[in-house]
Amino acid sequence: MRLFSRRQFFRQAERARETVLQALRQRGRPPMTQYITIDGSMGEGGGQVLRTSIALSMTTGKSCRIVKIRAGRKQPGLLRQHLTALKAAAEICRAGLAGADIGSRQITFEPGEVVSGHYHFSVGTAGSTTLVLQTILPALMTAPAPSHIVLEGGTHNPYAPPFEFIEKSFLPVLKKMGPEVTCRLERPGFYPAGGGRLTVTVNPSSRIAKIHLLERGKICRRECRAVVARLPRSIGERETKVVCEGLGWGAENGRTELWSESPGPGNILLVEVESENVTEVFAGFGSRGIRAEDVAGGTVKQVRRYLEAGVPVGHYLADQLLLPMALAGGGSFRTLSTSLHTTTNIEVIKRFLDIEIEWRRAAEDVVDIVVGS
Ligand code: AMP
Repeated sequence: MRLFSRRQFFRQAERARETVLQALRQRGRPPMTQYITIDGSMGEGGGQVLRTSIALSMTTGKSCRIVKIRAGRKQPGLLRQHLTALKAAAEICRAGLAGADIGSRQITFEPGEVVSGHYHFSVGTAGSTTLVLQTILPALMTAPAPSHIVLEGGTHNPYAPPFEFIEKSFLPVLKKMGPEVTCRLERPGFYPAGGGRLTVTVNPSSRIAKIHLLERGKICRRECRAVVARLPRSIGERETKVVCEGLGWGAENGRTELWSESPGPGNILLVEVESENVTEVFAGFGSRGIRAEDVAGGTVKQVRRYLEAGVPVGHYLADQLLLPMALAGGGSFRTLSTSLHTTTNIEVIKRFLDIEIEWRRAAEDVVDIVVGS
């Protein structure tokens, strides 16, 4: 029988730790904070190591020190987006934070109590708002009361989850685990102008349920949407044509949208595959100097790989489901061959939580990930 939720357990451990520290203080000895030290250059060596560590530090109440931050990247250290995420995390859990400067390669984070409520964070550049959300959501979704967050910056950035992925793919799976999180795109923000805005409402759950996502089920909807902001409509039309032809979908599955409310120019191609058990969202990011046909061709490859493998969970959703499943204490899913991102995330999670995470090859390009025993 389970008497405590995971969160209550961590809080109890935290209280016990506080009692010991208080006793030390009374004896005149300076308290020594125990840090989990994370090497930011491990595995993939990118921002995910930082975000997963901070998310887990907030959720478990364990302090951490992260060194060699983003050592694997061309421009290592903290960028504006990481800094916003760190400061947002510190504000939400009243944390002690040191080393939080642009370019910094080392930080320490000492979390306090997570405080739900109304928050507003602005990246200040086109840096990704969804990655800021990724950092703070685990703590807020397990907190005692609801929260409302406004995030400003980029909403459709290369190398980050586009808003539609969060809305249609990630959050519906999370809802099956308990937390009900809704988000609204109020204004899109593309790189490099940024200026986007999204709002998020978090209805937390004290217990995260274990789920098993091993079957995709029947595909019920396919859609290809090319979004164009302050650029010619023909870009979107060329993209949807390549996708519909490349995937053998009828032209009625494709449409082009013009987003006039975007502060700057931008183009994103979004392909949705909705199945009985999960919706996957694939993205192609338009960029100056890359032909629309090439953006679409890359997206077609991603979708084909997913459809051929027959798995429910794609490459990016796999990364992002690990943390909530670890907080649930278990769960499993079937996905594509593991990426370095996924294996790195597993390593970071294991540094904070005493949990087994295993992956087993089920077929060529098919892997089952099992969290907990
Ligand atoms: P990093 O490269 O370490 O900064 O991490 C990037 C994060 O963005 C990971 O959580 C990825 O799963 C996520 N991500 C990148 N591209 C996409 C995409 N096209 N769709 C959904 N998530 C993405």
